Amino acid sequence: MPTSTTEPALAKRACAVIAPTTACPACATAYQQCCLPLHQGTAIASTPQALMRSRYSAYVLGLYDYIVATYASAERANLTVYDIANSAAQTTWIGLRVLDTKILPQSTNDAGQFYGEVEFKVFYSEAKCLYCLHERSTFVQEDGQWFYRDGVMLAGNGAVKSKRNDPCCCGSSKKFKQCCLPKIQ
Ligand SMILES: [Zn+2]
Ligand SMILES: [Zn+2]
Repeated sequence: MPTSTTEPALAKRACAVIAPTTACPACATAYQQCCLPLHQGTAIASTPQALMRSRYSAYVLGLYDYIVATYASAERANLTVYDIANSAAQTTWIGLRVLDTKILPQSTNDAGQFYGEVEFKVFYSEAKCLYCLHERSTFVQEDGQWFYRDGVMLAGNGAVKSKRNDPCCCGSSKKFKQCCLPKIQ
C-alpha cells in the first residue's frame, strides 16, 4: 500500500512541462498546436486518436493527473494518480505509432453513446530492454467528450529484438542506432 509520505514526491512529477514550441512526443508537431491545450484543459480532444496521442504525451511528460482524468468514469473510479505514476516509474517512453483509428456508429443499446477505437504501438524501455505495447484501445464519449475505456493487447507485444542497423521500430525511417537506441535506458 502506498503511504501518504511517498505520494507528494511522485505528485511532483505531474508538473513536468516542455516549451510550447517543442515538438510533441506524441504528434511531432509543436506541443502548443496539439496536446498542450488538452493538458491545460482549455480544449477537449476532437477524436479518439487526438485523445490517445495526448494520453501518450502525458505519460512522457509525467502528467499523470491527466491520465486519470481521461479514463471513462467507470474505470476512473478505481484509479489514483499514485497508481498511474507508480506503474510508469521505471518506464522510459521511446515512441508511438498510430496504426488505425475509427469511430463506430452510434450505439442504440447503451445510452446512445459513441465509441471509437485506436490501434497503436508504443515503444518503451525498462532496465535497458526495448518493449512494444501493441494495443487496440476503446474510447467512449461521455457528455460530448472522449474518454479512454480499455484496450486489448494484439500480437507483437513484448521484447523487441532490433539490431543496430535495422530500420527503427518507431517508424522514423532512420536506423535504430541513429534514432531510438540511444534513448534506451
Ligand atoms: Zn501532441
Ligand atoms: Zn526511432
